Amino acid sequence: MIESVIASPEVVHYICKRFGIQMSKKLGQNFLIKRTVVDKIVQAAELDAGDAVLEVGPGIGTLTQGLAQSGANVTSVELDRRLLEVLDTTLEAYDNVRIIHGDVLKVNIPELMDHKPFKVVANLPYYITTPIIMSLLESKLPIERLVVMVQKEVAERMIAKPGTKMYGALSVAVQYYTDPYIVIDVPPKAFLPAPEVTSAVICCPLRSEPPVKVHSEAYFFRAVKAGFAQRRKTFSNTMKTTGLSKEKIEAILAKANIDGSRRGETFTLDEFALIGNAWYELDQEDK
Ligand code: SAM
Repeated sequence: MIESVIASPEVVHYICKRFGIQMSKKLGQNFLIKRTVVDKIVQAAELDAGDAVLEVGPGIGTLTQGLAQSGANVTSVELDRRLLEVLDTTLEAYDNVRIIHGDVLKVNIPELMDHKPFKVVANLPYYITTPIIMSLLESKLPIERLVVMVQKEVAERMIAKPGTKMYGALSVAVQYYTDPYIVIDVPPKAFLPAPEVTSAVICCPLRSEPPVKVHSEAYFFRAVKAGFAQRRKTFSNTMKTTGLSKEKIEAILAKANIDGSRRGETFTLDEFALIGNAWYELDQEDK
């Protein structure tokens, strides 16, 4: 049997009409309609038959179909109950796809993925892109790579380097856990309805080791948070948002050998690690 490819304007229109689906802006429903984009995402995921994949938001099954055709075992979490009966039909031919109804930020992912390594592949709902990416990265789950469609601006922030306008806490976190690169820019016309902005597919292979040595991730990320708390201020000043005394801030900077008159947005991951480590060591001495 030849399966019709969902990723085309005609098929997506037809399915939505047949099931009476009005796309919800609130849920970030912009469905893919370009097969070439689906193929690029699946290629970047480097899937082998039997690999476990977690998909966030299958929609009407457009990307899910491409993932299923790779032979991977796909678990797709969809929040919109209306789409469940659509997915039952559009993915009927694939016994390697499992649809879970729920909010990806609330479901028990370790249990869902059987505590085994998996890849995350998704055309993410844009209203919660950052919370989804951050909660997956911070979860310490055995994720091998993330391949996700996000707004191009978010993808640029994820790969941004120190001293640039786009560089922020998201850049540091993503680059700490992964080695990200942009796979392809995707124009609005690749979706139905077309979003207002250009999107991008970003591939984030997880690192086996962090790129910098940190004594404590909590302290490292505390330094990062302080570094971007008030972008226009010097680091010495933004460190005050942590509630530390002036003396303690000076001691941390001296120990880390960092010039506090610089702005946090100029710091490399290495420099944030130096600050976090100095802070951690001084706290240990104070105990
Ligand atoms: N994968 C489909 C595609 O590429 O055409 C749909 C992608 S659409 C951008 C995002 C999907 O995520 C929608 O189907 C939406 O209902 C779903 N969604 C939104 N919030 C969600 C959440 N918190 N958990 C799971 N799915 C969610």
